[in-house]
Amino acid sequence: MKQSIHEAQVRDPNEGNSSNTQAIPPKYMSSQTKDYNVVAIGAGAAGLITTAAVSGLGGKAALIERHKMGGDCLNYRCVPNKGLISSARLIQRIRESEHWGLEKHEPRFELQKVFASMRNKRAAIEPNDSQERYESLGVDVQRGEARFRSPHEVEVNGEILRGRFIVISAGSRAVVPEVEGLDQVRYFTNETIFDRLDFTPSSLLVVGGGPIGCELGQVFQRLGVRVTICQRPSQILEREDPDVAAALHSRLETEGVTIRTNRTVARFRSRDGRAVAMLEPSGDQEGSETEEVEADAVLIAAGRTPNIEKLNLEAAGVRHHRRGIEINAHLQASHPHIFAAGDIAGGYQFTHLSDHHARIIVENIIRSMIPPLRWLGMLARADTSVLPWCTYTGPEIARVGLNETEAKKTKVEYDVFRVELQHVDRYILEREAEGFVKVVAEKKTGRILGATIVGESAGELIHEFAVAMKNGISLGKIASTIHAYPSRSEAVRRAGDAFNRTRLTAGRKKFLEGLFRRNIR
Ligand SMILES: Cc1cc2nc3c(=O)[nH]c(=O)nc-3n(C[C@H](O)[C@H](O)[C@H](O)COP(=O)(O)OP(=O)(O)OC[C@H]3O[C@@H](n4cnc5c(N)ncnc54)[C@H](O)[C@@H]3O)c2cc1C
Repeated sequence: MKQSIHEAQVRDPNEGNSSNTQAIPPKYMSSQTKDYNVVAIGAGAAGLITTAAVSGLGGKAALIERHKMGGDCLNYRCVPNKGLISSARLIQRIRESEHWGLEKHEPRFELQKVFASMRNKRAAIEPNDSQERYESLGVDVQRGEARFRSPHEVEVNGEILRGRFIVISAGSRAVVPEVEGLDQVRYFTNETIFDRLDFTPSSLLVVGGGPIGCELGQVFQRLGVRVTICQRPSQILEREDPDVAAALHSRLETEGVTIRTNRTVARFRSRDGRAVAMLEPSGDQEGSETEEVEADAVLIAAGRTPNIEKLNLEAAGVRHHRRGIEINAHLQASHPHIFAAGDIAGGYQFTHLSDHHARIIVENIIRSMIPPLRWLGMLARADTSVLPWCTYTGPEIARVGLNETEAKKTKVEYDVFRVELQHVDRYILEREAEGFVKVVAEKKTGRILGATIVGESAGELIHEFAVAMKNGISLGKIASTIHAYPSRSEAVRRAGDAFNRTRLTAGRKKFLEGLFRRNIR
């Protein structure tokens, strides 16, 4: 049933937004239209999860995708990347097999076959996100480029889809920097490297030493390609603490990767079909000489930009900035009935954050349909205070919450507890003893402010800290929880033990010493 005009004009009291979340004003109603509760633009993680949930809860949802179902995570990012990482890890293990008491082996493989195996793994996941599956869930999947016609209308293939709610989940794409001569050399981004690399390069220049540059740089080095990573900031993984970045830096160099920090690619030229890059010094390298690096191919991993240009956001009056759509804490854009989710929402860019956004949006769509909740502005908020992430290099680098550098900028009094993996039996037995767990916790209480793990399976272990943080479980309580022996998770428990040792004040120790003295026989 349509809402009255009066009701339709009631605004969310929390917002400065001007439109309503309920009835669609008549001026936005075109004649050739299909009506939906929710229209989502982009079939990546955010759009898929939103529409599947709406449809599953009995709503009518349309999902518009201009390219491949599954979005970038499935096709050009996480999935193919992790598929290759898995093969590269095995290759590296074979290369280092004498550490496990085997004869030293040089692994035998063909790069193109490794890539084919990655594509097979991706194909096994594809059906989960397919058009057929979503149609079977009741979602109306439309293939084509979506453009806003009005705040409630989206056009695709000449047809108008009208949504009571609209979710912009159009993602982001790789930034290709404007560097002179780049168009004259063979270069790839994550959008092309997994499917269009039709030769085996003997060398690769990776532009960008963030998580993607480091993950893919290590993969190619392990696959026998000589890799150079060029990074403008003074350290790779610039978001992480210096000791964390240094641990990966040293591992990459040990495996043969050349890393040039404080360097910017100033220009390219082609020489006999190869790329020649001029690396100019920056930061504390300023004044040193320009360096020439020659490689068979170039991989650009220099960041991402939101897919906003084609959406005709002006027609809907949706404001945006350089990093994406302007949103509030409820993920609403300039109108309360339009939401933005995932990479295009302008914050951290992770698949699991797209998932979180989708869940919050579905919750808020439901709450917006219940007048008292809408009037009172009782909407859910996106919460990234406990957001784990992982860089899937060897060793993995996983983090949740604050690191030491960030903790220094707060007013909270904290301690840092560090456990070296060389003291954790399972890591020793697995020959993975390189790395550490580093926890920042509030002094006195042991409240965990953040944790970083450098080591194999760090991406799994980090969730113990995430659950603890989300549920107010202190480091001391982690220490009192039995952990199986010998598991990698003991590294987490030991961080708790380290905290408990700080509880043994001089006074308490003296008291205990006295107690033991009196009870010797
Ligand atoms: C190499 C690489 C590895 C990564 N690995 C990880 C990882 O291990 N873990 C992790 O959490 N994150 C990882 N990420 C980040 C992760 O891939 C993204 O955060 C995630 O894919 C974002 O999902 P999304 O739903 O916002 O958008 P996307 O997956 O980008 O989907 C958006 C979709 O919208 C479509 N679209 C755009 N405009 C329109 C339009 N006008 N009309 C119709 N359709 C449109 C696009 O075609 C696309 O399919 C990685 C990123 C990269 C680059």
